[in-house]
Amino acid sequence: MLRIGLAMLQGARHEHEEALLASAMDLELDVEIVYLRSAKDVDETIDALVLPGGESTAMRKASTSEGLLDGIYSWMEHHSNRPVLGTCAGAILLAMPDGSRSPFIRAGISRNAWGRQRQSFEADVAVDLPLHVSSNAKVERTPDEFGHTPLAVDGQSKNEDSSSFPGVFIRAPRFELESVTCDVIARFGNEIVGVMDGSKCAVTFHPELTGDRRFHTWLLQQTTGQAPTN
Ligand code: GLN
Repeated sequence: MLRIGLAMLQGARHEHEEALLASAMDLELDVEIVYLRSAKDVDETIDALVLPGGESTAMRKASTSEGLLDGIYSWMEHHSNRPVLGTCAGAILLAMPDGSRSPFIRAGISRNAWGRQRQSFEADVAVDLPLHVSSNAKVERTPDEFGHTPLAVDGQSKNEDSSSFPGVFIRAPRFELESVTCDVIARFGNEIVGVMDGSKCAVTFHPELTGDRRFHTWLLQQTTGQAPTN
C-alpha cells in the first residue's frame, strides 16, 4: 500500500486525489491518499506527496497555525529521495521555501508573471517525462450541484503528438529561464513550464484539471521505483 500525502492547503486538492486514484487503478497499485492538515500528519509513513496550486502567500499563512508547510519541508529534507509533485503555487513553494531552507528545485520562479487572473490560459505544452507505462485513464465526471462541468473534462490534448499535454495556466508563475539548472520536462514554446530535480517535479500549470494522468502516473511509478531515471 502506497501512502500518498496531499497537502490540504488550498486549491484543486480533490482533483489531485481523483487523478491519483485513476492512475493507481490503471497501474494496479494499492494507494491510500492521506490528507495532510498539520505537521504531525507528515510522518515517515508518507511515501510521496503532492503540493497543489492555490495562492502561495495564503498557503504560507494558512499553514502557520498547524505548521503544515514546515512539516512538509522537514519531511522533504529528511527523505530527499521521496517523490513530490508541485503544481503552480506548489512549484513556488518548492522553489522558494520559507526561512533559511535551501530551495528544493534548482529553478528560479516569478509569481504571477503571465499577468492577472483573467490572463489565465490553456495551451498545449511539450512534456518529456520518464514513464514506463503511459496512463490516460479517463475519469467520468458529472456536473456539480450548479450544473457546471469541470474545466477540460476530457483533457486530451488536441495535438496528435504524444509529447503534447493540455496545459491549464491559472495566474501562473514563470520559471526564470537562465536560473534553471535542473532537468527540463515541459516546455511551452521557448518557455520552461516544468522541471525535474531528482525526485521533485514542479510544473507551472495544473495537470489535475485535465484528464491526462501522466504526471500522477509519474509520481506513483517514481514511488514504487518503477520509473526509469532521466
Ligand atoms: N498566483 C498564485 C501564486 O502566486 C499561483 C496560482 C496557482 O496556483 N494557480 O501563488
